[in-house]
Amino acid sequence: MMLRGPTWSGVLALWAFAAPVSSEAQQGRWAGFYDAQVLEYWNNQMQEGIRANYEEVLLRALRPDERAAMGKTVLAFPLEDSDSLINFYSAANTVFMPISSLRFLADICLAYAWLSLNRHDLQVVTDYLSIVEQQWPDMPQSARHLPLDALHIPPSARQESRVMARMQTMFGSAVVFVLGHELGHLRYGHQKRKCSTADLKCATDRMEQNEEREADAFALELMARAGAPPHGASILFTIFAHTGPLTVDLHCDANGQRALRSSTVAERECDSHPLSFERLTALASSMRARSADFVRSTERPKTAQEELLFVAGEIEKIAAILADEGVQALIRQRGLTMDLATLTKAGSATAELSGLFQGSYTGRWVDPSGRAFDGFMVLRRDGQRVRGTYTFAGGAVSLSGSVTGQKLVFEWKWTPDYFGTGTLLDDGRALVGDWKPKRSDARSGRWELRRAK
Ligand SMILES: [Zn+2]
Repeated sequence: MMLRGPTWSGVLALWAFAAPVSSEAQQGRWAGFYDAQVLEYWNNQMQEGIRANYEEVLLRALRPDERAAMGKTVLAFPLEDSDSLINFYSAANTVFMPISSLRFLADICLAYAWLSLNRHDLQVVTDYLSIVEQQWPDMPQSARHLPLDALHIPPSARQESRVMARMQTMFGSAVVFVLGHELGHLRYGHQKRKCSTADLKCATDRMEQNEEREADAFALELMARAGAPPHGASILFTIFAHTGPLTVDLHCDANGQRALRSSTVAERECDSHPLSFERLTALASSMRARSADFVRSTERPKTAQEELLFVAGEIEKIAAILADEGVQALIRQRGLTMDLATLTKAGSATAELSGLFQGSYTGRWVDPSGRAFDGFMVLRRDGQRVRGTYTFAGGAVSLSGSVTGQKLVFEWKWTPDYFGTGTLLDDGRALVGDWKPKRSDARSGRWELRRAK
């Protein structure tokens, strides 16, 4: 079975130019996301494998002229990059691979592997990423905020060989892509300019954008020479997209210069330029064009090639979101209004509840212009009163109302600023109706739902 990627979500931006971390550096926003002990442990576990990939896959694939151009390069593993949830960068012939970033990438790869092999909805992963990005560090620190806890991945997942095989494929190839990208910056001397990250962040400035594309192309070239398919690239870019700034948060002028901003968060994020549509589409089309080269040393080239084309398609979906500010705004709202508890409830149907206006429903939430998104609703009925929640592209909404016959008239609330009314009709299997904001001139949207199995 192929990895199914996130459905509509995805977004942009990638990120983070980060200077090498100095020990005196101020603690950044992400300090303490992982315990120091956990990071020490993974530092011991991960370095060897990454060095092996670096030397045996990438350095071996370099031509003599390329080696000469970049000189001797070294890997460094700072324990934590407290300025970014995930960030890799290079400077002065050194490629920096923070353990905290590697751990986060590995956790997300394991979550995708386990969820996809157990046929769960993968949207929970992108929801998780949006929630953490939008709410950290205000989210209660006591909450189970780490990916595997929040997504309820069982500890036994690490004992399942097919889960671990898929996880290693994703993680290993994502790391090799990152290393190749950073080597690309060193190869072309980009680090002499300020922008150096794995960074998808340097996209507004044309020169920096070209450098990112050049570094991506170099990574793909090395992977094609080595016969190593970049299967993990879509997960990598999905994470970048959801944990970097949304373009709607950015107020940069056409030259990529900072413009007026209102908060320190915005200021921080404006430092990172958005990942570009052009960059991701260029990456995806190179992957398609050379798909046979990447897979020639794999055990089952045909399957590997099909998977690679799927990954290219996922990257194109992320690119499409970069071009749609409306979708980005919804993703941001979703990250702000959902919480980790809602996330897990949304993933599990309450099949034990049955009866009119009682139980779990899945279907479509349609906005007044006719644009539809997947939605999930849970209703609990007590006499004629009904309370419930629903989640859709914009986040989690609460509703309450009363039933007359087969009709529910409800009020809904979404964030402190949005509230409205609606009606739903239930025939025992399907639930349909409308919703609208309370303003009298507002147009209605629709709900089209069926009972979840
Ligand atoms: Zn870069």
